[in-house]
Amino acid sequence: MRKVVLDRAICLKAGQCFYLQPSVFKADAEGWPEIIVGDLDDETFEAADSAAEICPSGAIEIIDE
Ligand code: SF4
Repeated sequence: MRKVVLDRAICLKAGQCFYLQPSVFKADAEGWPEIIVGDLDDETFEAADSAAEICPSGAIEIIDE
């Protein structure tokens, strides 16, 4: 199963992930990105992978469990 994970410790809170890929991320009340999917299907995998590529801090990773 593929999942997307996010490291808030290095996130810059710039918001590209939730602005560009709202099927996978949303902003929480304080503007931090939050992951809104569990296991990735083909569609959400593409969205998460794209977010991982554009994230300026490298905070987004896709893992295989
Ligand atoms: S794109 Fe990366 S740095 Fe920007 S809010 Fe999302 S996780 Fe944080």
